[in-house]
Amino acid sequence: MTSVGWRARPRRLQVWARGDGTARPTRRGRRRYHSAVPTHPDHPTLHVSDHPAVLHKLALLRDVTTEHKKFRELVREISWLVGYEALADARLAPVTVRTPLEETEGRRLADRIGLVPILRAGLGMVDAMLELMPTAQVWHLGLFRDERTLRPVEYYNKLPDHATVDVCLILDPMLATGGSATAAIDVLKDWGATRIKLVNLIAAPEGVNAVVKAHPDVSIHVAALDRGLNEKGYIMPGLGDAGDRQFGTGHS
Ligand code: URA
Repeated sequence: MTSVGWRARPRRLQVWARGDGTARPTRRGRRRYHSAVPTHPDHPTLHVSDHPAVLHKLALLRDVTTEHKKFRELVREISWLVGYEALADARLAPVTVRTPLEETEGRRLADRIGLVPILRAGLGMVDAMLELMPTAQVWHLGLFRDERTLRPVEYYNKLPDHATVDVCLILDPMLATGGSATAAIDVLKDWGATRIKLVNLIAAPEGVNAVVKAHPDVSIHVAALDRGLNEKGYIMPGLGDAGDRQFGTGHS
């Protein structure tokens, strides 16, 4: 069995490593999925989903035989589920509504939400998040990874001068080295964003550590925490290139 640096926490969180090298926290007792996913014991800002629907879809997403159309559907479905968990602490304001029978108190979303997909792989996560939060603003950020240095290079940014949202959700399927994520967070903080969340499908410990070190105030929401990076910067076991698999641009 492969250890990936998880530390067991006897009372609340137990960790096991699967045969494929991925780690998965398991919890004893009742889970309430309408509340935020508990944080990882070593990283108070990391939330790894353990919802059965997420795990089921994640296995299909990883599968090399999953074709592009199905892959895009799965990216969308898992994004919805992880995004739902990430938004569990969104602020609400009271609202009065009239049912066909009487007036009652309800809640409306008070936070202005900004979705920040990282081009291009983050595009596949946008529709799901807009279904969840139809009033969200979408601000695209173009960052590509220099294959030689593995460092992010910004090539697209149309953010206005001042922040126009209360909460920013950065959307990127893969948190690998953390270079793009930390660069995106830098950009958003310069913009004036104060509450920033990172929503990924799969993260590597290297990426999590980089983000936590540079931005300990940013929460990270993922479907899985994998074993680590290979020499080319791919997450292992991962799913390959998330952009190529969504858009059919791989070589194979
Ligand atoms: N980006 C990807 O698409 N896949 C990885 O494994 C790492 C970065």
